[in-house]
Amino acid sequence: MVEMLTKLAPAKINLFLRVLGKRTDGYHDIVSLMQQITLYDELTFLSRPKGIVLQCPNSNLPLSADNLIFRAADAVFSYTGCSSGVEIILTKNIPVAAGLGGGSSDAAATLLALNEMCRFGLRKRELMNIGSKLGADVPFFLFGSSAFASGIGEKLKAWKNPLKLNIVLINPSFPLSTKLVYESLNLRLTKKRINYSIPRFSELGDIIREMHNDLETASLSMHPELTEIKQLLLRHGALSAMMSGSGPTVFGIFTDENSAKKAAGDLNKTSPQARVYFAQSL
Ligand code: ATP
Repeated sequence: MVEMLTKLAPAKINLFLRVLGKRTDGYHDIVSLMQQITLYDELTFLSRPKGIVLQCPNSNLPLSADNLIFRAADAVFSYTGCSSGVEIILTKNIPVAAGLGGGSSDAAATLLALNEMCRFGLRKRELMNIGSKLGADVPFFLFGSSAFASGIGEKLKAWKNPLKLNIVLINPSFPLSTKLVYESLNLRLTKKRINYSIPRFSELGDIIREMHNDLETASLSMHPELTEIKQLLLRHGALSAMMSGSGPTVFGIFTDENSAKKAAGDLNKTSPQARVYFAQSL
């Protein structure tokens, strides 16, 4: 048993996201290119004889079964029949309900950490199985730094992004519920099913050309100021700007690190009400 462990849980962006249709169980079939980025939550795990204790000094997130970290710890202890406990301290840096997958990434980091700490010896596939019951994006964070996702986001195919992307993210500091965005999209969905396969990306221009998010129209109509944020990124030199997941975080892709860092610095000064981040693809 390892006494203490620290893990970084990265955020993700969706380079493209297409909604193929609504399933009879209410979920939506999607295809998406998902990419982890260098914006992280930090989780520290301390072993204790029993019970799960969660602390998150810098946010108002729930600290019991409503938190995905708590549920992930509970799930892996039940799966292994282990009776020991853990104290987890979360430093939340990824904006919440922001389209960046923070909760799912925290859950994945928890599964990985406890597997290591308690020497459960569970394989990646097993962890992904436990994770899939916690949230559709959890398996992705266990799978690898980028992937082509289909189904409700749980079917993953290897896709190694050949490029280091330089990204500026703007989070407008209000949360957006994924459920509400999908509900609003339902009104617009046709019954026609669309097929889609993995596009080939070998240079930056390919990514810029393929960037697309079907959820954008729904989120943008609920919050028209998101259109202005996209324009802001483009005016600061982004080659393309788009909302991530169900939003409201908008990201722009830049030609190089210097131009992205400069834009992030300038945007930070001019947009005090928003949170601005520079990040790179992992
Ligand atoms: P999703 O598309 O899965 O909703 P998201 O990136 O838009 O992802 P998250 O930051 O993962 O949103 O949070 C979604 C909801 O999950 C929030 O309403 C939040 O209260 C809840 N939640 C539970 N545990 C966590 C956690 N550890 N971090 C962030 N949110 C959490």
